Amino acid sequence: MSCGCKGIRSCLKCEGLKTESIPQKSPEIVFIYCNDCRQAVRIDFYENNSKCPHKVENEHTNDPSNVFPIDGIYLIADFIDEKEETELVNEIDQDLWIPSQSGRLKQDFGVKVNFKKQIVKYNMFTGMPSYAQMLIERIKKNRFFQDFQAVELCNLDYVNERGSSIDPHIDNTWIWGERLVTLNLLSDTIICLTNNEIKNSIVYIPLPRRWLFTLYSDARYDYMHSIQRQHIQSRRVAITLREFVNNNEKLYIENTNLCEKIIEISKRFTGLSVGRLEEQIKQYQHQTNDIERMDDVDVQTSPITRLNDILKSEYGVEIFTTKLLDSYYLNETILITSSDNIKYIAKLMHKTKLSYDNLKYILLFQNYLYESCNYPCSKVLLSTSKNSLITLIDTNYYLFLQTYIDGNEPSIDVDENYYKQMGSLLAQWRLNYCTFFSCTNVIHDHIEEEFTDDWWHSQYICLFNTKYFQINEYRRNFLLSNLYNCQQKLKQSHIITDKLQRGLIHNDFHTNNTLYNNNENKMFVMDFLDAKKSYFLADIANALFHLFVHTKNEQHLKLFINGYCELFKLEQDELDLIDLFIRLKLTVSLICDVSNENIDQNDNLEHSNTFIDDCFCFLEKLSTNLYFVKQLFH
Ligand SMILES: [Zn+2]
Ligand SMILES: [Zn+2]
Repeated sequence: MSCGCKGIRSCLKCEGLKTESIPQKSPEIVFIYCNDCRQAVRIDFYENNSKCPHKVENEHTNDPSNVFPIDGIYLIADFIDEKEETELVNEIDQDLWIPSQSGRLKQDFGVKVNFKKQIVKYNMFTGMPSYAQMLIERIKKNRFFQDFQAVELCNLDYVNERGSSIDPHIDNTWIWGERLVTLNLLSDTIICLTNNEIKNSIVYIPLPRRWLFTLYSDARYDYMHSIQRQHIQSRRVAITLREFVNNNEKLYIENTNLCEKIIEISKRFTGLSVGRLEEQIKQYQHQTNDIERMDDVDVQTSPITRLNDILKSEYGVEIFTTKLLDSYYLNETILITSSDNIKYIAKLMHKTKLSYDNLKYILLFQNYLYESCNYPCSKVLLSTSKNSLITLIDTNYYLFLQTYIDGNEPSIDVDENYYKQMGSLLAQWRLNYCTFFSCTNVIHDHIEEEFTDDWWHSQYICLFNTKYFQINEYRRNFLLSNLYNCQQKLKQSHIITDKLQRGLIHNDFHTNNTLYNNNENKMFVMDFLDAKKSYFLADIANALFHLFVHTKNEQHLKLFINGYCELFKLEQDELDLIDLFIRLKLTVSLICDVSNENIDQNDNLEHSNTFIDDCFCFLEKLSTNLYFVKQLFH
């Protein structure tokens, strides 16, 4: 790793190589800052007294060349304990360190600022890291920080091996507000203050490990602060939080919307550091979609025009009328009415959508639900000619025929019982699958599975191969940060996730896939074709985010989960991870839905714009409040 030094900056790595001479330091009179009396005391004077004389009035302390006050240094001792420090540094070290100036390493969470041109960009800002939540909450409990809104978090790593230091500077005053808050970790150090008015003098502020250090007022604006190489004895990590200038300052007045947007992003705790984000973008942006593309399949080969003949020969059904209900790419749903006035639903599907064995397994389970569990779904009919659930047409199309369900898609103001019933039906699915799994010996190796390495990889690839996201970098990065964050969190909690129950999940369980029969007051579940091997928790998560995006009513989530728990009590582990799974399933669903949408010339999504926007809105909510759903149950 090379160093990040530019211009006159240097570290131990590059000093032998630099042609410019390192400026020699002039001799300085050292003052020590006393946190008790908030004064700078000349070091010899300090040592003669073997301690700070504080505010004793005598001829020495009245002489400002011995003692003078400094306003604007706020130290909080032992802001975190040793255990918290270890955990914090562990989390920080899992992130990527980027070489910075003067032998430091850095990690940034925040906007990109061009100080000269005064331009702020938030494309690479995806929110604060999750570990910052505890820190920021604790800081804000202190009255001095009540209105502190951190909009940037920066970690710096100092070691003596690299000769790490930071040159005297004043943090930019156009963008950054008064309070500069730093948590000092792993080793004690000394912050130096210098000021042109007290020439040849330097003030040392001893800063012990785990203390919180804040510069404001005179110390922030009238003095330059720095850390000298000699004051790094062993590894030091510093977390610095910055706020925006007040809303009556130039930055805010000229960019009110921008500032408010950035503040909104700062309240999320699913952020990736800029370095990690850049690394991920670099890794994926030139990888083309190696998932099988079906562009070369001739859509015209759909055997739908021959459906009447096929149904007659394969199922012995004479057709009276047909009606196309749904037509997606390589996937058609047709309502059939036979000459003896019986209705059926026929499905035509290209084989690239799903393997034969996979489809067969799903349909077998559907019939198990229908026949053995009295589950409210349709039944898949066996063909009369081959006695099989699936008829293969022209070697590339699957056809299957199901019984017809009489009902309508439920409206949004359906009664509360509906949401409970939904939860209950999803729990029934789970219970029934577990018995199906234990009492049948159908091979299930070929069922598509979520959360495998390939599955994760394909989510990233899909995100980067969608044109909409190539244009909307901010939204892409937001999804990327959530995807990455969820993947890391699941990896970290693998001891828990390894124990989570898995099986075949419906994977698209929401109102659009239910029918409600008002006469019978009964709901039916449809469309099992997204079923995958996964965690049952993922099925719940999928249903819950759809429900919330659809009705925007927290009570409905509660009703759903209550309905579920009446049949199947959720484990504590499942409840603990429910928000993480909802966030992940929502992210993955957004990636998939947007990639399936076309974009028009204005780079807007053509269809279901509001649905996509509502999904983003909910994902933002979940990124800000990491326990949104779990909290409904306290
Ligand atoms: Zn260097
Ligand atoms: Zn003192």
